[in-house]
Amino acid sequence: MVHPSLPYARAARHRAARALTTLGSAHPRALRLLAIAAGAAARAWDHGHRVADTHPAPFHWRRRKEPLPTLYELYMAADRAHRAHHAVCGRCTADHPDCPAGRQLHDEFVQRQDAYLAAQKKRRP
Ligand SMILES: [Zn+2]
Repeated sequence: MVHPSLPYARAARHRAARALTTLGSAHPRALRLLAIAAGAAARAWDHGHRVADTHPAPFHWRRRKEPLPTLYELYMAADRAHRAHHAVCGRCTADHPDCPAGRQLHDEFVQRQDAYLAAQKKRRP
């Protein structure tokens, strides 16, 4: 069941993304909307929604014919998401996630980093 916090979190994410695109990442309004989006995502998480629910893959990604992202691209995307979160969270730091959304983003970053490094190790005997 979709808790009302999920559509709110998605809308907050859209507003923040639009502000980041039009105003730039240093603009106070963009940073405020990003902080609101982070809080909304945390509330959605508290109601059982995962980060992927707030950030569904765009339709064109799900149907695209190009190859799937590489492990490195996934690792870097997780790194960017993790950094963007702790830059605005107020509770989390780079090495110490301190909120549910921050912990999930940190865990995804660590898992993708481990997967990438394990694949690199396999390639170099
Ligand atoms: Zn956090």
